[in-house]
Amino acid sequence: PEDARYLISRIRTIAGFPEKGINFRDIMPVFADQRGLSILMDALVASLPVAPDDFDAVAGLEARGFLFGPTLANRLDKGFIAVRKAGKLPPPVRSQSYALEYGTATVEIEESAIRVGERVLVVDDLIATGGSASAARDLVIACGGKVAGFSFVMELEGLAGIAKLGGYPASALLTMP
Ligand code: IMP
Repeated sequence: PEDARYLISRIRTIAGFPEKGINFRDIMPVFADQRGLSILMDALVASLPVAPDDFDAVAGLEARGFLFGPTLANRLDKGFIAVRKAGKLPPPVRSQSYALEYGTATVEIEESAIRVGERVLVVDDLIATGGSASAARDLVIACGGKVAGFSFVMELEGLAGIAKLGGYPASALLTMP
């Protein structure tokens, strides 16, 4: 509980960023802080929604999923797969578009990054509507992989993002109002 309190105390909330009416949850101070980072990584390992034997690789969403995804993967002796915003990865890639409040976004995976049947844990800092994580799920499947589960640091309360992922094992360390 003391560690949880400490972790929460490192998360900064910025009202009205990036748009009016949004409460932005900033995880960067956790990474900047030695104790915060160490608590975060231990807590992520302890809160995995599936046993380490039940997945083969970790896929992280750009950009903040890149900050802890590879460390988490390495701790568990897995590889790391990057889910990037469109146009950054060399071909051949798989693309998946999804709806935002205004417009659409597209994410991509290098086709060769996932072996057929590979079981993938998808990670990101925060799940809001679940749109980004669902797009990552679809990409893993399109590449012939299997989604083992989802792990988030934060979940925004009231948006039911995790419920939209399709019943896969999923966990979030912190639920934010
Ligand atoms: P979703 O697709 O609506 O679930 O939004 C989640 C994506 O948007 C993740 O990649 C997050 O990093 C980012 N995001 C949304 N809201 C916040 C926030 O308050 N803080 C940090 N990232 C956020």
